[in-house]
Amino acid sequence: MTDDSGVASYADLPLADVDPLLSEMVARELTRQQRNIELIASENFTPVAVLEAVGSVLTNKYAEGLPGKRYYGGCDVVDEVEALAIERAKALYGAEHANVQPHSGSTANQAVYWAALEPGDAVLSMSQAHGGHLTHGLNVNFSGRGYTFYHYGVDRETGLIDMGEVRSQAFKCRPKLILAGASSYPREIDFASFRRIADEVGAELMVDMAHIAGLVAGGVHQSPFPHSQWVTTTTHKTLAGPRGGTVFCEAKNAARLDKAVFPGIQGGPLEHVIAGKAVCFLLAATPEFRAKQRRIVENAKALADVLLAGGLKLVSGGTDNHLLLVDFDDTEMTGRLAQELLDRVGITANKNVIPYDQRPPTITSGLRLGTPAMTTRGFGPEEMREVGRIIVETLTVKHDEAGLNRLLRRSRELTAAFPLYCDLNS
Ligand SMILES: *Cc1c(COP(=O)(O)O)cnc(C)c1O
Repeated sequence: MTDDSGVASYADLPLADVDPLLSEMVARELTRQQRNIELIASENFTPVAVLEAVGSVLTNKYAEGLPGKRYYGGCDVVDEVEALAIERAKALYGAEHANVQPHSGSTANQAVYWAALEPGDAVLSMSQAHGGHLTHGLNVNFSGRGYTFYHYGVDRETGLIDMGEVRSQAFKCRPKLILAGASSYPREIDFASFRRIADEVGAELMVDMAHIAGLVAGGVHQSPFPHSQWVTTTTHKTLAGPRGGTVFCEAKNAARLDKAVFPGIQGGPLEHVIAGKAVCFLLAATPEFRAKQRRIVENAKALADVLLAGGLKLVSGGTDNHLLLVDFDDTEMTGRLAQELLDRVGITANKNVIPYDQRPPTITSGLRLGTPAMTTRGFGPEEMREVGRIIVETLTVKHDEAGLNRLLRRSRELTAAFPLYCDLNS
């Protein structure tokens, strides 16, 4: 890697030459994604165009500040890139203001807390045990340590968010902010009702749409935008963009939000990722994307039907969105064992606590399944029904090796019929 004069010359070499060890790991991860049925509800396959933007030279640029107001020279091009991402984000959702710099969904939430709250202020959010996110007040998270969180949950019988409880909790704890949004809630969230309660107690409403941002953009889930003062999202879940976050707010809060992101909680923005977000917002406004979002929901219903027919229980009895939560309460199956067995047959999913779970979080009584990734890959209801049958049979045959091998072959047949990232194989 050095020339005769001893000067390093690795700058123009490909990864495979510079670091074969790492390169081989990336290749193996590509193969894993190509072979397996990906049902993790928060994952997706981002288009090659987004990969290209994220892998671009924009990673080299320091651009603290905002387009037109930077602390560094040489920002003319990245100013254009970021301004484009902002405009597309606002247009996609009809939002008044957007900040596209948050490095992740977690920092997007942190930015809103920083903008809207003082340390210690009261916030009302969905409990993590019932589907909320760790940044919604978990005691070991910055959110739970920095602010005073109170929680609402779902009804034990219906599995639906108990709006009566949201209201009574709101009157009890008098929060400055009410947070709606979840990581494992299979039903539509009624943002309008949340706003009415927030207005009643003089709180602002924040919607964390990380999981459903694509469904909202596609018009298959109620939009939080007319109802909430603050909206946060990730761009890598149903939106299928690069790993990152974005925050939206009303025009009157724009300066507060922008200052909260920088210098409040972040330094230099990731302009290469922001470029990927610009591509993602462009694509999310297309008819093809909207059709995909409808199909994600259709696929989730098709999967739910087969699981129910196979004798499995689902939290809330089904799904309105992209995910479902299998309920193993009062059975011998656990979330952990289900995840391990499905891994064995080429299906990737995650164990998940269910509301009122009696097992510890390392074991759980739930399995979270989502359809965004495989819908992106091309699966329709017919393929999802076959996935459902494979899941039901896997949980039935359990440790029968021959049976698991037959199921693995069936799952490999499905993925082989829907090639992924063909041009990335070197
Ligand atoms: C995924 C998620 C986040 C956090 O996203 P990261 O990018 O992993 O930090 C925040 N809120 C909700 C509801 C999520 O599901």
